Amino acid sequence: MSKKIQIGWIGLGNMGNPMVKNLVKAGYDVTVYNRNPIKSNKLKETTNINIVGSAAAVVEKSDFIFTMLSDDAALKEVYHGPAGILSATSERTFIAIDMSTVSPETTKLIAEACAEKGISYLDAPVSGSVKPAEEAQLVIMVGGNEEAYEQVKPIFGALGKSSTYLGPNGSGNVAKLAINLFLGITAQGLAEAVVFADKNGIPASQLLPLINAGAVGSALTKLKSDNIINDNFSAAFALKLLAKDIRLATANGMDTPIGKSLSATLEGAVEKGLGEEDMIAVLKYLKD
Ligand code: NAP
Repeated sequence: MSKKIQIGWIGLGNMGNPMVKNLVKAGYDVTVYNRNPIKSNKLKETTNINIVGSAAAVVEKSDFIFTMLSDDAALKEVYHGPAGILSATSERTFIAIDMSTVSPETTKLIAEACAEKGISYLDAPVSGSVKPAEEAQLVIMVGGNEEAYEQVKPIFGALGKSSTYLGPNGSGNVAKLAINLFLGITAQGLAEAVVFADKNGIPASQLLPLINAGAVGSALTKLKSDNIINDNFSAAFALKLLAKDIRLATANGMDTPIGKSLSATLEGAVEKGLGEEDMIAVLKYLKD
């Protein structure tokens, strides 16, 4: 009888939490580590997971180790920290897959450190927010070793509607940053239209159905319409995370006119204390 695949998962934020649920639903054994144990304990109440107390402890249990963390600093901590993945003494071999949005530089550094230990490392960031994560409808873009990708592909199938292999390590990150540049530009464009209409007597509740019925309506404008109309800015994708992504894009050569304007808007919004709110809170910033 073939051995059941053991998955390790690190990071139970807005995205990691529903993604783990989908892996368990698909029948995988999942061992979880989250820095804040309250989140792991809460998930265990409804979902059959094993909990361990460090990233290093995940190594002992896993054939594949996924990370879904805030940013470059978090990923480096989880790999290089004192109880990090690379500190593990276990001889167990596994494939490492990072699904966070981080820089291609950090990916390449961690991939090299992993290669020295015989570990294949994939960057596999995702397009799609909490709802697509819950519905296993994420779009997954992958960089790294293609054979490793082929081994992980069936697991990606439990998390998303597609996975695409793009090339060497960092390729997935570059594609993801390009998508989030477009996402941010679209969000700012939507916010500017709402602010302009409102200033001239057309409220968002009248404008948004018109936008959504026409050619400029999109999945994004439809997704954010109710939140805008109801002044609900609780984070599905925190504004501070989008600001982080545009900083990474800038560090990788993004210097186009709309991109630069977006960057200034996001930095201003973070400075104003809107970082924990949803990215569409750029609207609040532009309104004032
Ligand atoms: P989130 O809700 O802020 O969760 C972040 C996770 O990272 C938490 O589990 C947090 O642990 C962990 N973490 C942060 N710093 C850490 C550290 N130093 N050591 C160990 N763990 C640390 O973020 P998210 O919304 O799930 O997003 C995760 C990634 O996916 C980000 O890179 C984001 O840009 C990307 N993404 C997000 C969306 C979205 O719509 N939300 C969509 C696509 C991609 P604690 O619980 O202990 O704080």
